[in-house]
Amino acid sequence: MGRYWNEEIECMSREDMKKLQSERLVKQVKHVYENVPYYKKLMDEKGVTPDDVKGIEDLHKLPFLTKADLREAYPYGLLAKPLSDCVRIQSTSGTTGKRVVAFYTQNDIELWEDCCARAIVAVGGTNEDVCQVCYGYGLFTGGPGLNGGSHKVGCLTLPMSSGNTERQIQFMMDLGSTILCCTPSYAAYIGETLKEMGYKPEDNKLKAGIFGAEPWTEEMRREIEKSLGIKAYDIYGLTETSGPGVSFECEEQTGMHINEDHFIAEIIDPETGEVLPEGSKGELVFTSITKEAFPLLRYRTRDICVLSREKCSCGRTLVKMSKPMGRSDDMMIIRGVNVFPSQIETVLIEQGYSPNYLIEVDRVGNVDTLDISVEMNAEQLSDTVKDIQKKESELVAAIKTMLGINPKVHLVSPKSIARSEGKAVRVIDKRKLH
Ligand code: ADP
Ligand code: ZN
Repeated sequence: MGRYWNEEIECMSREDMKKLQSERLVKQVKHVYENVPYYKKLMDEKGVTPDDVKGIEDLHKLPFLTKADLREAYPYGLLAKPLSDCVRIQSTSGTTGKRVVAFYTQNDIELWEDCCARAIVAVGGTNEDVCQVCYGYGLFTGGPGLNGGSHKVGCLTLPMSSGNTERQIQFMMDLGSTILCCTPSYAAYIGETLKEMGYKPEDNKLKAGIFGAEPWTEEMRREIEKSLGIKAYDIYGLTETSGPGVSFECEEQTGMHINEDHFIAEIIDPETGEVLPEGSKGELVFTSITKEAFPLLRYRTRDICVLSREKCSCGRTLVKMSKPMGRSDDMMIIRGVNVFPSQIETVLIEQGYSPNYLIEVDRVGNVDTLDISVEMNAEQLSDTVKDIQKKESELVAAIKTMLGINPKVHLVSPKSIARSEGKAVRVIDKRKLH
């Protein structure tokens, strides 16, 4: 098996890709306009007809779709095919509110699994590999997507789903898993458990991990790579655009290649909706140009990142997106300052702490409070109260340097913060609960 799953597409010239995208976009706009009254109404309100869209240069004329539209149109309002043509429903994790559902024809599933196969081949996967999938199976897209991709590549697939970590490890060891697929927070937990069970990183046969579905920092990547003895790759996707595999990392590990033959990416200013020039940081917007049942046009993901067309050493020409360091709605405004949980994670790991932490935000009187609980490691447990206080002050200073505001830091005993088998919960914002 070669270095690519689909070399023709993955290494296509920019000109040919633009042509392909344009043809598919024109067809898709027509399909949506004719079959989705909800979207037709949005287009009519904006005064655009399918005839106005002759290629990707006209993309900006189309209206945006948002998660609020998906909720309003729930469940069938954005369906573009008769239900009799649909074979699957998946649903979001509901991280930021009410779940939304997405529909798939058999062809939609094929294309989605194909995207996941590209990701697996990009990390070196072949039919010789044993691929352990411990993303959740069920309505969540992580398990089914990677499972399908793994089958396509011909890996021996272990459909473990998440949870029961000791059993995960037993199978990993007994069957010699070589590729691990799960959320980064679960990968970290598996690494921690392996160590507790007395295994060294070199004792397992894993070579690569495909980790995504939640934000994670470069520091966290290095931790996971060290604890599992692997190379850890990022993968991105969202239920609304099918699931994981919208973009994936190659061996260069400097961003994720977007499967542009299926998804056209734009970066916009989240405040004004204006399309930003390449290289600017902003909100990622996707247009699905091949999906049949649930084809979202100009869908605002709320994920903040940067696109780059710099030449990649892997030979792929697909545009790359940077790791989304959180969604626009993950951002907390604390005492007027913008704070992303990932900034705090960076400091903690840099200072030698584990990625097990919990951020609690509250308001006392009119003042926002920021409390961060961080687990000590086993050695620190024997420290005196004075030592612990000193370490807490050091962390306060480091976080203050990063954020510009003073947090309270509490070093807590090992294992006292709940581990995640799926997407980790890092923040409790009590201001929203009052
Ligand atoms: P929910 O929005 O309920 O979490 P999904 O399960 O569909 O629903 O998750 C999609 C979201 O997960 C994306 O919009 C993005 O915010 C996040 N995500 C997925 N993959 C990554 C990744 N590799 N890095 C950062 N965030 C990611
Ligand atoms: Zn590359």
